[in-house]
Amino acid sequence: MIQAKGMAAPTSKAPLKPYTFERRDPKDHDVVIDIKYCGICHSDIHMVRDEWGPGHFPMVPGHEIAGVVRAVGPKVTKYKVGDHVGVGCLVDSCAECAHCKQDLEQYCMEGQTLTYGSMERDGSGITQGGYSNVIVVKESFVVRIPDSLPLDKAAPLLCAGITLYSPLAHWKAGPGKKVAIMGLGGLGHMGVKLAKAMGAEVTVLSHSESKRDDALKLGADRFVLTKNADAFKDNAMYFDLIINTVSSADLEMAHYFSLLKLDGTLVSVGAPDKPLSVNVFPLILMRRNFAGSAIGGLKETQEMLDFCAKHNITPEIELITPDQVNVAYERVLKSDVRYRFVLDMGKI
Ligand code: NAP
Ligand code: ZN
Repeated sequence: MIQAKGMAAPTSKAPLKPYTFERRDPKDHDVVIDIKYCGICHSDIHMVRDEWGPGHFPMVPGHEIAGVVRAVGPKVTKYKVGDHVGVGCLVDSCAECAHCKQDLEQYCMEGQTLTYGSMERDGSGITQGGYSNVIVVKESFVVRIPDSLPLDKAAPLLCAGITLYSPLAHWKAGPGKKVAIMGLGGLGHMGVKLAKAMGAEVTVLSHSESKRDDALKLGADRFVLTKNADAFKDNAMYFDLIINTVSSADLEMAHYFSLLKLDGTLVSVGAPDKPLSVNVFPLILMRRNFAGSAIGGLKETQEMLDFCAKHNITPEIELITPDQVNVAYERVLKSDVRYRFVLDMGKI
């Protein structure tokens, strides 16, 4: 076995603390990765606080992993020692179902294996994530990080990047399209950069006036403060596509639906702990669509990384040491992240 050091929540809702554990020795198709950096996703906070249901503890969170290949199993063909690689939210799937066969492993009909908190498919144990110094992953769930992307800034692309790229691509954000991003956090700020690079007009819908200047600097064409009394009236029937990245259910969805054009779509990627309350009338009256989207498959994740390298897109990050993780969580909860915390796992 391979000795690993990480940061784990010992029990639900407890602060994270140093933790040592073991990774499996590489099997034929496994890649051993020295983790250099791992982003902090709001999902990590939902997970360690059991906001989506009971988890497995101790839990080492982290699914925005960037690192360097330490070793490979004898049948690995895509990667060699020293390569820059990434791992996102998935480490396995059935590979047989109709969705897996379409490169949509995130929608595996048997249920995907998440990077942390999932039972391994062979029943050998619970997966542990990227707030650690080493991980062992099947090569088909590893992506290549292009040389032009620095590893610290590449890390958040593995979740925040792909979670916005996938719906923007699926609903065809591009020239002539008016796109809104709800919530300027880790996911939201990637949405602004990606939608802009795809050629869309981009508006940020935020509840924080303090983010107005940043939104425009990040490339947004417009900023709408959703606390303003006239915000919804002034932007009625304006958008083709709205992506909701808000982590809270404390939203009046009918107001946001009213911002869509006829046949427009609002896609929720934010995954709050409580159900959203939905009044269907604004959907009915303008034949609007309300949809959801989960991360992206491995093929699309590689496509997103190559797109980011080509268009020189990287997240805005605040690099911190692993012992600062609990303070970072508190700041994320206050919407005070500018715009993704990344853990320097070399400092564990
Ligand atoms: P984050 O960095 O905390 O950003 C969330 C943003 O939502 C905040 O910055 C804030 O933006 C806004 N917000 C928070 N509370 C609000 C409230 N009460 N009312 C209105 N706006 C509020 O979180 P993240 O890491 O981007 O993740 C966002 C959500 O997506 C989480 O629920 C996460 O679990 C989920 N997620 C889903 C997927 C998927 O595959 N679907 C993947 C990753 C993450 P403003 O200050 O600009 O309003
Ligand atoms: Zn995530």
